[in-house]
Amino acid sequence: MRVDIISIFPEYFAPLGVSLIGKARDRGILDIRLHQLRDWTHDVHRTVDDTPYGGGPGMVMKPEPWAEAIDAVVASGAAEPGGEAARPRLIVPTPSGRRFTQQVALEYAGEPWLLFAPARYEGIDARVIAEYGESLRADEVSIGDYVLAGGEAAVLVIVEAVARLLPGVLGNAASVTDDSFAPGAMESLLEGPVYTKPPVWRGHEVPPILLSGHHAAIARWRRDQALRRTVRNRPDLAAGLDPGELGEHDREVLDEAWRAVRSEESVESAG
Ligand code: SAM
Repeated sequence: MRVDIISIFPEYFAPLGVSLIGKARDRGILDIRLHQLRDWTHDVHRTVDDTPYGGGPGMVMKPEPWAEAIDAVVASGAAEPGGEAARPRLIVPTPSGRRFTQQVALEYAGEPWLLFAPARYEGIDARVIAEYGESLRADEVSIGDYVLAGGEAAVLVIVEAVARLLPGVLGNAASVTDDSFAPGAMESLLEGPVYTKPPVWRGHEVPPILLSGHHAAIARWRRDQALRRTVRNRPDLAAGLDPGELGEHDREVLDEAWRAVRSEESVESAG
């Protein structure tokens, strides 16, 4: 997969040389190219922002440098052998975008080429999205309901979530299917707790079932833990579980977990 990132802080992406992503790059699975947005400005101050039309606080990123930068990156792909028709998918991080989820990460992992446009200040002039919306299938995405100072950290999050889904990046491909939010039967379930050696640490024992070697019983225990953890930490996800996907035992575990949460809430409100 090719990934281009245009930013006024290309140095922000040094972590993409480390660990899994760094190895994926060394092995040619990921081709990450960083670009300085200011290289497409034409004034002595290399200006990328201006005051907002209509007034208000903060500055807005000018459309011209973004468009020149995006056009240059797109043209560089067309210039590569066999790349005449290649077009990246443009991803613009913004708190007002659609929510970035594991499902969206999977969608992006199926793309051969992603181009990220992380903003600073109050964001990018909206005409840039209008200009490339169709031709580059531009996508505005939010990594959560909070506001960062800039889109670079959001790009790091998205690239890491996407890259670990690419074939050959993880040592054990099954890790992806066992994850929280993994598509399939566990899609709306969080992963339960995990343990490693030693079996007793500072008086805390590993749940004995995990040492039993009974694979079916271990799988059942893990699913129970996942159901309980989802009710406790993400009631919104648990409330949306499809009853058709749940067995009788699942429903019993869920009912018990909901009762536990409600009785804790009533104790808290009484106190
Ligand atoms: N005034 C903007 C708003 O409320 O939507 C916030 C701009 S923020 C200070 C600057 C940039 O940080 C955004 O344009 C975006 O690139 C990035 N950013 C901030 N929070 C983000 C989030 N939750 N998800 C994705 N990108 C985010």
